[in-house]
Amino acid sequence: MTGRNSTALQSEIFDPKSAIDGSLCQPDPSKSCGACCGLYNWQNHSRPVLIPLLERSTSLFFSLGRNPDQFRKAYADEAPPPNPKLLETIYNCEFLGFLDEKKKRVGCLLHPSVNDGRDLRDHCFYGKETCSAHYCPSYTQLTKAERASVRLSIDDWYLYGLVITDIDLVKEFFHQVETRLGDSLKEEGLKNRKVRDALREFFFLKETWQFSSGQGRLGKYYFSHSEYQIARIEYGKRWQIQPSRFDKILLTLESEFQTPEDILVAESIIEGKIVNFLTAYEG
Ligand code: SF4
Ligand code: SF4
Repeated sequence: MTGRNSTALQSEIFDPKSAIDGSLCQPDPSKSCGACCGLYNWQNHSRPVLIPLLERSTSLFFSLGRNPDQFRKAYADEAPPPNPKLLETIYNCEFLGFLDEKKKRVGCLLHPSVNDGRDLRDHCFYGKETCSAHYCPSYTQLTKAERASVRLSIDDWYLYGLVITDIDLVKEFFHQVETRLGDSLKEEGLKNRKVRDALREFFFLKETWQFSSGQGRLGKYYFSHSEYQIARIEYGKRWQIQPSRFDKILLTLESEFQTPEDILVAESIIEGKIVNFLTAYEG
């Protein structure tokens, strides 16, 4: 932990919700998600940009004795680096921070598990009731096996939050793989480390995709003038070709192509990741 006094931060602080099997927010001590608190709602939401933001909130909160009022004042007094929000109407909560010394988990600094049982979430914009009652669509739309695939393959807050909230990416991976297997993907198969590694390599495309359009996008959504829409790749209009068989995946990876040859390269990369996964899974 860097910055101001952080000795109050316990290394084993852990959200009680994590004890519930299937928790997506805080699944285990190696990662967590903070997407609905505005974690990625920045034009530039790359890992190197988010880490200092989280460190700043965390060190400030603990250095001020976990006092939310003092925190808000001090937070407002410090000028953050210029980085516009993706969507103005989504609140980027200043109380999102790192929950452990090793900075493996992001989460709510006002949560009772961080504050000796005191629930301080009424000090935030949303309030305690809204914060505690919110469950994102991934809870209901991802199947048990789909949730497990993300939980078991990723041990890193940044990538975990991006993927667990990207329902299309996860579902389309399953669709591609299960179509080739002619069977459903079994959670049992994810016990094999090579299978998990191959799956992580696929999900890691979210962070390393060479055709990513960059800013102004989050998954298949693009943001403009405080509105968002679902992006499209204009295969027919621009190049008179059929949509890619990986269209859904290409959209979630925020792809922008200059030539049809780019699309072939992109398809080849995705195909390689899927084949690697199947080789490990069936091997
Ligand atoms: S986006 Fe979903 S998984 Fe992530 S913290 Fe919010 S409710 Fe939990
Ligand atoms: S106070 Fe609410 S919005 Fe803010 S970090 Fe905590 S749970 Fe998220």
